[in-house]
Amino acid sequence: AVAQPKPLMLWFDGALVPADAPQAPLTSHALHYGTGVFEGIRSYATRDGAAVFRLPEHLERMRRGAELLGIEFDLAQAFDATLQTLRANGHRDAYIRPLAWLGTGLDGITVGLDVPGLRRHLMVLTLPTVVHLNGKRARLTVSPWRRNPASSLPPLKLCGAYVNSILAKRDSRLRGFDEALFVDGEGYVVECTGANVFMVKGGRVTAIEHPDALPGITRDTVIALSGAESRPVTHHELLDADEVFVCGTAAEVAPVSALDRREFGDNPVTRELQALYARVVRGEEPAHAHWLTAV
Ligand code: PMP
Repeated sequence: AVAQPKPLMLWFDGALVPADAPQAPLTSHALHYGTGVFEGIRSYATRDGAAVFRLPEHLERMRRGAELLGIEFDLAQAFDATLQTLRANGHRDAYIRPLAWLGTGLDGITVGLDVPGLRRHLMVLTLPTVVHLNGKRARLTVSPWRRNPASSLPPLKLCGAYVNSILAKRDSRLRGFDEALFVDGEGYVVECTGANVFMVKGGRVTAIEHPDALPGITRDTVIALSGAESRPVTHHELLDADEVFVCGTAAEVAPVSALDRREFGDNPVTRELQALYARVVRGEEPAHAHWLTAV
């Protein structure tokens, strides 16, 4: 007999259910207005089994986004739901996507902008990740789109805010690049559509700081690992760097091969940080074992 593949399970409002079960009504507030908040988290296979990298930090950022939207968020519940979903699916190297959103009102209809009285939902999805070794280096282009300014939309993982990243990503792909770089009206680098930016010049590592950029957890990790300084950097200064790399939960530490017509050469510092990051997330660096939550 051929074994049936195990259906993918997700956690939805307190129970593990098959991922293809119908869940959210078409009248959900979040579908119409983007009133949700999500996270992107990863687990890795370590010598001691699967472990989630910096889970409390990710859920704390999600809690801040939920609070802003008026979605009650129980961090301990989301923490448990994440571990339960990983265990149910038997995932080790996985991408974890928690999502909290506003649903329908008691009348089942959602046309107003007021949020009190709407149902609150939480789901956690986990997907196995393929580990890309020697992934290709990314080609970046400066986006014609501006990043959402923090004064209009705080840099948190709010669903609706990601339309901004999607416009920039789409434009960069249509023009033959891999990824877009947001630059502000004064010429300062903000971030990419789903990753923060670093540069290396004369052996010094600099984390690019900007008030409109998402405070990335990978960025924080790389600063801790490299002793990088964090400061604002102009587009012009970035073009003059020896190495540029981007980092994020999904991207990890990813070298950049070009920014528009500027080609970057060898990237020894980036490669070293990439390898160190890979060891840290897999629990091979005891000094940073506290960043891992065992599944
Ligand atoms: N910036 C944006 C816009 C993002 O979506 C992400 C991915 N969450 C990042 C930066 C990197 O953040 P992190 O390292 O916490 O994944």
